[in-house]
Parts: sequence; C-alpha cells; structure tokens
Amino acid sequence: MALMTGEQYIESIRKIPMQIYMFGKKVENPVDDPILRPALNSVRMTYDLAQMPEYQDLMTVISPETGERINRFTHIHRSTEDLRNKVKMQRLLGQKTAACFQRCVGMDAFNAVYSTTYEIDKRYGTHYHENFKKFMLYCQENDLTVDGAMTDTKGDRSKAPHEQADLDLFLRVVERRPDGVVVCGAKAHQTGIINSHEVIVMPTISMGPDDKDYAISFAVPLDSEGLYMIVGRQSCDTRKLEGSEMDVGNAEFGGVEALTVFDHVFVPNDRIFLNGETEFAGMLVERFAGYHRQSYGGCKVGVGDVLIGAAAVAADYNGAAKASHIKDKLIEMTHLNETLYCCGIACSAEGHPTESGNYMIDLLLANVCKQNVTRFPYEIVRLAEDIAGGLMVTAPSEADLRDPKLGPVIEKYFKGVSTVSTENRLRILRLIENLALGTAAVGYRTESMHGAGSPQAQRIMIARQSNLDHKKALAKAIAHIKED
Ligand code: SF4
Ligand code: FE
Repeated sequence: MALMTGEQYIESIRKIPMQIYMFGKKVENPVDDPILRPALNSVRMTYDLAQMPEYQDLMTVISPETGERINRFTHIHRSTEDLRNKVKMQRLLGQKTAACFQRCVGMDAFNAVYSTTYEIDKRYGTHYHENFKKFMLYCQENDLTVDGAMTDTKGDRSKAPHEQADLDLFLRVVERRPDGVVVCGAKAHQTGIINSHEVIVMPTISMGPDDKDYAISFAVPLDSEGLYMIVGRQSCDTRKLEGSEMDVGNAEFGGVEALTVFDHVFVPNDRIFLNGETEFAGMLVERFAGYHRQSYGGCKVGVGDVLIGAAAVAADYNGAAKASHIKDKLIEMTHLNETLYCCGIACSAEGHPTESGNYMIDLLLANVCKQNVTRFPYEIVRLAEDIAGGLMVTAPSEADLRDPKLGPVIEKYFKGVSTVSTENRLRILRLIENLALGTAAVGYRTESMHGAGSPQAQRIMIARQSNLDHKKALAKAIAHIKED
C-alpha cells in the first residue's frame, strides 16, 4: 500500500493507542474529539489530494528507492524541481485547509536526517544512514505521517543542556543498553504530534562535547511506552464544542500543538540516527530549520490566499469593493503574499545537492523567506481586519441569528448589499476572525513568528550567510580604494 486514502489515514490513527491529555482529562481518541478532529482533517487533505489525478504530479512522486508512487510528504528531494514542487504543494494545501496541515515537519526532518546521517557515517563509520533509510522505506511503503520534534523546553536560556538545574529540560539519553537507549525529556509546541504515526526526534541546538547525552536523534511510534502528549489550548477552541460551525469560522480544518513528554522511552538501536556525535547536532538543526523555513514560503502563502479572498468577499458584501483604497489594500496584501512565495520558490530554485545526493535549499534565501514570514502575515491580517470592519468581532452568535425573535433583527440591521444574505456576510467575517484571532491564528500569526525558529534565529543565519567581506570588497573596487 504505497498510498493511503484519507479515510484509511483517519482509521489508521484511530487504531493507535496514544496517551493524549487535554483540559485535565485523557482523550480516548483524537479522531472522535470535536476539538481535535479538525486538525486530523487537515492532515487528511494530504492524503485526499494525492488520490486526485489533477494533483498527482504535485502531491506524489515515483520513489527512486521503491519504484512505487508515494506521497511527496515521504519523499527525499532529488532536484531543485522537487524543492519547488514541495513549496507549490504546500501552497495548495494551505488554500484547501486555511490551516496548518502539519505533515511537513516530518518531510523536513526526513530530508535533514537523510543527508546528515550520511555525513556522520562517512566520518565515523556508524550505521545511522542505513538505519534511517530502513525507517524511511517503512514510512514510504505504508504512507505514514511522520512528525519531526526539535524544540526542547530549554529552561534557563543562558545555560547549556548539561548545565540546567533539571537535566531533563533538554531531551537526553538516561540509559545505554546493548539493544538501544532510554530517553527522558520533552518537546514543546509539537505540531501535529497527535495526528502522526511516528515521530523523528532531533536535538534543538548546536552542542559541545559535554552535551553528549543530548546529541540524540531517533524515530519511535506514537504508542511507545512512556510517550504522552498534553494538548495546547488555542484561542476560541471551545467554540468547537458549542455546535455552531458558523461561529467557528473554519469548522472543518485546524492545526494542533502539544507538549510531548518522553518519560523513559526505549529506542532500539536500528531507530537511532545520531548518538553522541555532538558536532553534528548543529548540522541537523541548521538543515531541518532551513527546510522548514522554506516550507513557510508555501503553506502561509496558501492560507494568505484564503484570507485575501475572504477580505475581498467581505468588501463585496459591504458594497465597498469599488472604493480605491480597498482595491489598493487588496493589492498590498497580494504583493506581500506573493513576496513570501517568491522567497519560497527562490530558495528552492537555488538549491544544491548534499553529499548524500538529496537536495538542500539555499540557506540564506530560506532564512530571508522565514524572516519575512515573521512580518508579512501580520500586515496582511491587519489589512484584512481593516477591510472587514468591526463587525468581525462584534457580530452576534449563530444562535441569535436562528432565534425567531432576534434573527429578523440581525437580518435587518447587519445586511450589507441587498442581494447578499446577512448569514453569508457573517460567515465570511467569522472566517477572517478565525484566521486573525481564532484557532487558525495559531498557525497564521504566532506560528509565523516562532514556528521554524523565532526571528532572531533567522537573523543569526542571515548574518552567517551574508558574506559581508565580499560586499565590502565590491564597494572598495568600485570606489578605487587601495588599502596597504
Ligand atoms: Fe506545514 Fe506550515 Fe504547518 Fe509547518 S506550519 S507543518 S510548514 S503547514
Ligand atoms: Fe510550523
């Protein structure tokens, strides 16, 4: 089975006995939970679109390893075309879900671990690349959703992992056995973890020789003993329990993050991809972060397309579409959104092969991409709120709209252009609210700021890659400066 249907994906998650907690209670199954189900629906879209002939080229590839058609989310990029198609696929999925569809973290971890393990083995004669390829084939053949877990909780930011007051604040090896290792620690803000079959764990920062136990990378299934998740709250999440899909704004799709705890989880030897080779921790982090910063030039752009469309519909319904300042705001939103896309495509087009043969994005351009993502969606949201008007946050509930006495009053006073129903006007405003302030704001706003690394992390990488000496030499040559 190289490709699962969406329904098969949902049922496969149902079968995994995961330990999930939310609001102080154990969630028996995320598939049937009204708060968590929309996040599964977003991942499901990565399976549904792969079944459609019109999206086959974008969503699937023929695996060079197996010769079978596989989902692009389990693929190792083999060309700059692969890298560009990845971004285009992410834009498409953002358009179809208006949410974080979560499966990219595993794809980005796949590609970072693939090339890094190759280089570790070359230096040390280890077998991490072989281990990883075996795991990768298993995921390709079964079309699994794999998460990538990087962000440790980090405790005191001024201290290295081994200097922390509590040694578990960075995930670490607590026991080494002949058949594997036992790990303790936690990964924070873990996107899509409750919707995945497997998780690849990676270190979160570059490490020195004293952090040997923290330089660990591996993959385990989500029902591993000792592994559990505590789901993060999202703004307006309990609206999903109220029974009004209209008030949620985007009732079908969403994203999810959770604190993922590893309490003495056993990892067998053949699932280990890094174990104590501290100098490679930084390479793994840099490559994963680079790929995920590229990803944002696709996914956020697709969600931006929906938001721009929603703002334009709101303008139509308000009778304001012809006003020149509205037109100009929509142009500005488009300009910002397409600039992000330019960055995603550019860092892909300028990609290059690694020693292992897979393709890496241009790191400088990927970091510029993500740095722009920390800003532009905020401006796009600001303009959408401007166009939408205050009603997006003061509109009465669907229950009032349906009420026999209050409904006609709402119909009358919140009517925009006479040809459009008040319900449709309120629906589009709720969608904008969802993206700007509701559950989807996690993915479109704060995740744009901190996901794939906070802004300062990109600035450090931009500084490293900027080659200022070369630019100075250019200036001196033009100015005919000769220094002794
Ligand atoms: Fe994919 Fe974007 Fe979500 Fe990251 S933030 S998992 S790139 S949709
Ligand atoms: Fe993300």
